[in-house]
Order: sequence, then C-alpha cells, then structure tokens
Amino acid sequence: MKRFLGVTTALLALLASGALPSQAHSSSTYYAYKWKNQNGSSKTQEWKFTNSVPTSGGWRARVKDGVNQWNSVGTPMQWVKISGGDYADYDIADPQQGCPAAGKNSVRYGYIDGPGNTIAHTVICLFTGTLQLSNIQITIDSSETNWNTGTGDTPDGGLFGCALGGCGLDLWGNMAHEWGHAVGMDLHFQMSDPDTCSPGDRMDFHTMCAFYSGGSDRERTLEGHDSGTFIGAYP
Ligand SMILES: [Zn+2]
Ligand SMILES: [Zn+2]
Repeated sequence: MKRFLGVTTALLALLASGALPSQAHSSSTYYAYKWKNQNGSSKTQEWKFTNSVPTSGGWRARVKDGVNQWNSVGTPMQWVKISGGDYADYDIADPQQGCPAAGKNSVRYGYIDGPGNTIAHTVICLFTGTLQLSNIQITIDSSETNWNTGTGDTPDGGLFGCALGGCGLDLWGNMAHEWGHAVGMDLHFQMSDPDTCSPGDRMDFHTMCAFYSGGSDRERTLEGHDSGTFIGAYP
C-alpha cells in the first residue's frame, strides 16, 4: 500500500502575528502509521541516498539537516544513514517498481510533476494488513529550478514575490518537512488554524503544514507542536 505525501508551493498573503500556542496535537490523529520496534524499544531505521542526488552543491547536506531536526528531538525513532555506496536510483511511486524490500529507505532526486505544484513528496509503504511502516522514499522534484541548497536566506522574490520567479524553494526546510512524513506523520497541520499554519516566516509556523510559502526558511527547525506531537507518537 502506498500513500503520497507532499508539499506544494503556494502564493500566500502574510497574516498578522498571533499568540504562540503551547501544546502539541493528538499523536494518534496525526501518526496513524508508525515504525515498529526493531530492537527493544529502539525504532532506528536506516536510509541511503540514491545515486540521483547530486554529490556537491549542498544537496546532500541539506537532506541531512532535515533529518537531523527529527533525530535531535531524541525519541526512539531515529534515522541512521548507512555507509557504503548509494542505492541505484529507483522510484517506489512508479507502479512498475512499487515497494522494495522492507527496510530499504532512500532519498532521491527525480521527476515528480514538472515545475511548480508538488516540489517534494514522501511515499510510504506498509506491511500488509497493518499500520506499521515497512519503508519510505523521499523525492525532491528535479523539475524545480529554484531550490536553495545553501544555508543562507532563501530569496522571497521581493515586491513581486514568487510571481515573477524570483523566489526560492528552501531545500533544508522542505527536507525537514518530508522527513516528518518519513517518521510517520501522515496528516498536515491545518492552514485554517492561524496558530499553526499562517504563511510566512512567523516563529509559530509549524514545519508540518500542507503548503510551503516560497522564500520561507521557517520550516528548517521544528516548531514545538511538530516536536511535541512526534514525542507523543514515540514516547
Ligand atoms: Zn507534507
Ligand atoms: Zn499546533
């Protein structure tokens, strides 16, 4: 079984700031699927890049920055990049390929849907008849031409925003988001709640919102509800 989880670009107006919320959301609601125990209470999972991900220019470093946000929360659900060579590229979203063997998890760079719309996604597989994750794959859309693979400010496009192509897509922030799906969060926090998903660089803007606002760097680090809900899922 596969589910497609992604973030999409959106042009969003800036809202006024509000009070910072202090409590996490229901873990049972947001984490319908989980990793099972591998070794005692540990839920450590291994991953690799596929050979489609560029080896220079910050691509791999930003993917690691993303996963480190979740690892550093310190729950039993930890991701370990295994050494050795890359996986030959594969795409579990391709019906011809489908889910690989359990435990084969990867990050790849490849076609999703052309420029715009979905800019990255995570595909998950489950053990048949269970809610236990068997493997995942994150894909960075190679059709996007404006990824910011550095650690500096992601351009917001100035006066015209993303409309004239001047904004950037922050790879670190988007990888933090996709790894949130990879740890098992299958739903998004809601845009309708101004305390959780107001667009822009507001400090209370959660990483696990459905839409990414071009030029934003806010998603690089987890907001308290992102980490709090994660802790609830993996106490
Ligand atoms: Zn998402
Ligand atoms: Zn929240």
